[in-house]
Amino acid sequence: MKRLPIALAIAVVCVAAGHSALESADLIFSNANVYTANDAQPHADAIAIKGDRIVFVGSEVGANAYRGSGTRVVDLGGQTVVPGLTDSHYHLAGVGDRELTLNLEGIVTLEDFLAAVKARVDKASPGQWITGRGWIETFWKPPVFPTRWDLDKISPNNPVFLTRADGHGAVANSAALKIANVTKATPSPFGGQILKDKKTGEPTGMLLDNAKGLVTNHIPPSTQADLERALLKGVERSIKLGWCEIQNAGARYSEVELLRKLYGDGRIKLRIYEAIYGPGPDAQRLLREGANIGAFGNRMTTRHIKVVLDGALGSRGAALLEPYSDAETSGFLTQKEEDLAPMLVQALRQGIQVETHAIGDRANRVILDLYERALEAVPADQRKVRDPRWRVEHAQIVSPVDIPRFARLGIIPSMQPSHAISDLHFAPSRLGIKRLEGAYAWASFIKSGSIIAGGSDAPVERGEPMIEFYAAVARKDQKGFSGEGWHPEQAVSREQALKMFTIWAAYAAFEEGLKGTIEGGKLADLTVLSADIMKIPEPEILKTRCVVTVIGGEIVYNPAR
Ligand SMILES: [Zn+2]
Repeated sequence: MKRLPIALAIAVVCVAAGHSALESADLIFSNANVYTANDAQPHADAIAIKGDRIVFVGSEVGANAYRGSGTRVVDLGGQTVVPGLTDSHYHLAGVGDRELTLNLEGIVTLEDFLAAVKARVDKASPGQWITGRGWIETFWKPPVFPTRWDLDKISPNNPVFLTRADGHGAVANSAALKIANVTKATPSPFGGQILKDKKTGEPTGMLLDNAKGLVTNHIPPSTQADLERALLKGVERSIKLGWCEIQNAGARYSEVELLRKLYGDGRIKLRIYEAIYGPGPDAQRLLREGANIGAFGNRMTTRHIKVVLDGALGSRGAALLEPYSDAETSGFLTQKEEDLAPMLVQALRQGIQVETHAIGDRANRVILDLYERALEAVPADQRKVRDPRWRVEHAQIVSPVDIPRFARLGIIPSMQPSHAISDLHFAPSRLGIKRLEGAYAWASFIKSGSIIAGGSDAPVERGEPMIEFYAAVARKDQKGFSGEGWHPEQAVSREQALKMFTIWAAYAAFEEGLKGTIEGGKLADLTVLSADIMKIPEPEILKTRCVVTVIGGEIVYNPAR
């Protein structure tokens, strides 16, 4: 009986201390429309921050209790605040590169495409490589891939190599093919395809997946200085758009080392969850050295391997169970199962997460089978991390019978809503109506018990949070169009869309205890928006802008002040 009053007294002292001497906040956001993504307290009016953590979220009065003489108070005038947004599938250097090199996005005719390349060729020195990215033939008339002969007209001498928006296909001109010695007689390499003219057998210039390497091996490699420029450009752009973390879908150790140097010098504020490409020497190094979690104040983590298992749907490299509806091919796998299986077992023993790019229904089934076999071979008590949270990147075309396997095996689908609204213009012709049932099937995944880590796959897509959020809830293109059989019921609710880019993204990186909701004790990462995306009409979501980005309690973007 005596114990109870003592316990109560201690509790009272703790609460009192918590509210006065110890916890005067550094920063308070007041007069805010806060969506926390925390089901226990979904909405609030104010947030108090100390150091890099949230100390309070709730009412104005409650936040005021944390006000001290040194507290900065920012009145948000009713603006909307969400947990700092995370892009779960991003290519940071690629995003920077797109800004710094020949950007071919948004071009809607072959003529304009050639004019843009010609302008670059005219400025080039003899023999200089012309490289660029972002073209997509879907809107061209007719919607067919460009060829070497198209490019030869504007660049007969300089080698040209231009990557399709999806990163899986590229077109080279004759000068580039000559340097690479790609001829009629060159066979397609494993996991790739050299497209050839049906009549003459000559390469058309289009190279898919592993076949791109035949040419890229001859392009002078980018220097560390180029990479540094691209990374910093990518970081700057991401923060302006309201991303507080990006999960970088594949890098080599040379990039990891460069990022570490840049963090050490205080030049990057963005959080990066950095995947290492595998299988291969870089993945082996990660398996040997082990995970490196939360370096530089929880800003940089390397604990997972990225595998690419097939191509993309647009270039017909995605591996399908049945042939494409508009071509005599079923796509291809870009890795051999026997190379992956031992690495997966090793990863479980070493506590390394694995994420695998799988777009076609065949690639998805193959990776689920491989994951399942590895999970059976290494039971939980023999794993360094019991619940390894392995991921499938894209999970784009999945046979409906395979969808529930994700939740059953604890495998996380990491999906990009914008792919669905870009692909709706060509996916029906590639796949036919029947297969669309399991395509971009967000609602089916959630219903089967999965969470979805949301991402953009930039620079394959724009990489803008509001486009992703809109795509997830509207499932229509940016003009409001959605074609026949595009399964509007697969759209998600706004609450689910918010979770895809916050708490579910955090979970997919083992970070749910640290971030992903606006909650006391968590990292103070916040994205402030120009409109209430949980309430405004769908088209207005696309007009919404990030107005303030806060990472670790620091205002890192705020154009108004
Ligand atoms: Zn990607």
